[in-house]
Amino acid sequence: MELYGVRIPTIVTENVAARCAGCGEIIEGRPWRISILDVVAPEAPVAWTATASVNPGPFEFHGEPSHVLAWMAQRGTLFCRRSQVRETMRPVWLPVEPRRLGLCDGLHRDDHEFVDPAAVAADRS
Ligand SMILES: [Zn+2]
Ligand SMILES: [Zn+2]
Repeated sequence: MELYGVRIPTIVTENVAARCAGCGEIIEGRPWRISILDVVAPEAPVAWTATASVNPGPFEFHGEPSHVLAWMAQRGTLFCRRSQVRETMRPVWLPVEPRRLGLCDGLHRDDHEFVDPAAVAADRS
């Protein structure tokens, strides 16, 4: 398999029954694990805006960003198109009613651009 262009020849046989959260198929080999980072520092009191629970994962996928984007689309989560699908994603609550969750890698400095992940998957395929 390849991660970020680095070939990883190790065959890992743990989690033989792991299923991709995006497409529901069994993952052969090492799953791509993605965690949602809790943006609230543990020592800070939990604000009411942060009380909605975000399952931090990790979620397991085939090594294809499109499977992760499909999973986001199923959950109604938006994706910041200025970011990439990475192993750690940051949750951003969007100021809309009803509240929607967006995911971003948090590595860009300009404004977020949250879009429908299905549209991103179509663009990049
Ligand atoms: Zn999959
Ligand atoms: Zn962003």
